[in-house]
Amino acid sequence: MFCPNCKYEYKEGILICPDCGEKLVDKLIEEPKLNFDTVELCDVEDEIQAQFLIFLLSENSIECFLRENFLPHSRVVLGEKRKYGTIIVNKQKLEKAEDLIKDIYKK
Ligand SMILES: [Zn+2]
Repeated sequence: MFCPNCKYEYKEGILICPDCGEKLVDKLIEEPKLNFDTVELCDVEDEIQAQFLIFLLSENSIECFLRENFLPHSRVVLGEKRKYGTIIVNKQKLEKAEDLIKDIYKK
């Protein structure tokens, strides 16, 4: 059983999420299928950076989205060294995307 809010899995027999009170469901709704292969572009420090990069990539017609490393309603970070989130892009446009962010993060 899963909580649709927290995305946590619970043992059989538990019907209500102990964290948020939501009714548990048998299966979480699958994330929509993308029509392109994805690859990680870079980690982001915070929401502002994430939104900026997504705006920039979208402006350059690179399909992208933010994979957040925080579970909803919690401050638990998935994985030790993970930042706020990771920008995922269309694999076929990775090179172009890397060029774009190179210009910004040039040292
Ligand atoms: Zn819950």
